[in-house]
Amino acid sequence: ASKYSGTKLLFTSEIGIKTVILKANMDSLSSGQGIQVVTPSEDHTFLLDEDALQRLLLREDVRDRPVVLVSVAGAYRKGKSFLLDFFLRYLDRTYNNGEGGGEWLGREDEALKGFSWRGGSDRHTTGIHLWSQPFKASLSNGQKVVVLLMDTQGTFDSNSTVKDNATVFALSTMLSSVQIYNLSQNIEEDDLQHLQLFMEYGRVAKDEIGGKPFQRLQFLVRDWSYPYDHPYGAVGGEQLLKKRLTVRDGQHEELQRVRQDIARCFEDVTCFLMPYPGSKVSTDPHFSGKLSDIDGEFKSCLKQLVPMLLAPENLVTKKIGGQTVKARDLLNYFKSYVEVFNSEELPNPMTILQATAEANNTSASAEARNVYETLMEEVCGGTKPYLSQETLDEEHKKCLNKALHAFESKKKMGGAEMAEKFKDLLVKDLEELYKQLSAHNEGKNVHSMLSTPLVFLAVLLA
Ligand code: GDP
Ligand code: MG
Repeated sequence: ASKYSGTKLLFTSEIGIKTVILKANMDSLSSGQGIQVVTPSEDHTFLLDEDALQRLLLREDVRDRPVVLVSVAGAYRKGKSFLLDFFLRYLDRTYNNGEGGGEWLGREDEALKGFSWRGGSDRHTTGIHLWSQPFKASLSNGQKVVVLLMDTQGTFDSNSTVKDNATVFALSTMLSSVQIYNLSQNIEEDDLQHLQLFMEYGRVAKDEIGGKPFQRLQFLVRDWSYPYDHPYGAVGGEQLLKKRLTVRDGQHEELQRVRQDIARCFEDVTCFLMPYPGSKVSTDPHFSGKLSDIDGEFKSCLKQLVPMLLAPENLVTKKIGGQTVKARDLLNYFKSYVEVFNSEELPNPMTILQATAEANNTSASAEARNVYETLMEEVCGGTKPYLSQETLDEEHKKCLNKALHAFESKKKMGGAEMAEKFKDLLVKDLEELYKQLSAHNEGKNVHSMLSTPLVFLAVLLA
């Protein structure tokens, strides 16, 4: 079990590069919270809380891990946050407290904690929230990953415009590796239409990059009331999905296209049918999330559904352009996507693709810079002795070459021209960094210090 106290350290590494180490308090879920990272504003643009994102994604213990980002999207007041809190409970007990097994659902009288959920008809969560605690997990092949949970809102309610809705939905789908599309009672034609914007992007991305651009789409139907037609759970879900996604003659062309696109753009499309959770959950204003107040059938479905999404063997890592996305890369994608959605009424697929490619190159540059920094730290870090300018120059050239090699060997989107542009920027950046390192090295030169008249005087007077 990983138990840290809530410490926050800021140190400047020996060669002058600022590194923030944040260790979150992983003691319990009650010390975590939903943090709003994307907020819609009055003028229908979106604000990104970059600081909050950095605190989460650049934490030293998670930033180099591939990301599993599980998002829940859909209309408000349909039990999304409520469901996410069961995800949290599962993640906490499986990956933090090592209990795992069938007991994760908890005691009958335990109140449900996590993302806030509640009755009433006003909106509660607008934009995109991430849970402040990342969960460190290992896949069945041993690969270490970080699991993040995303709660979204803004879709399809009266207060938001079409653009806000489409944006939150598209953003969360493009950023997540598992998108759970939470629907009430059934899968309707409208629900499929909401998928359209980023399906168009998916089509373009697919042509450009090859392979399927998105990973997993999980339809989740709540309050399913026809278990005699299709049983609760994954089997009934498959039946319903097949029925809904079958392309039929005489269907509107646009709809046929969305259906085909869904199959082409996602590696995996599944559906799960949830039963009604009982009247305490759906109507009692004092309901606290206690298991004893939830119908048995609902609980048994939760026990099936949650591990299907979050057990080590079922975790799906995020890939963009065929590359696994690490926590630190995700930051770049957040920035690029929010920017692109702010810049146009509704961005066209090519613009989104361009933004993706830029974020992709930014990540490759950051990795290359990291290579350079690490190697140079070895050469002329604070504890290392003074080096002559010639020696340092030589070392710099070697490290620069290795960094450029790291950049070039990464598969990148956007073609040779874009890569060239980013490479030039990288070289400029590293040359700038080298100037600083060089000055720092000079500072270690005792002789040169003593030859400065002022210092000389000071020494004499001492
Ligand atoms: P969100 O807006 O989609 O995040 O919805 P919330 O999670 O905040 O839940 C809204 C209300 O729906 C709360 O009163 C919950 O108790 C209730 N609720 C949660 N799950 C379900 C469900 O599966 N069916 C029904 N009918 N109500 C639910
Ligand atoms: Mg909610």
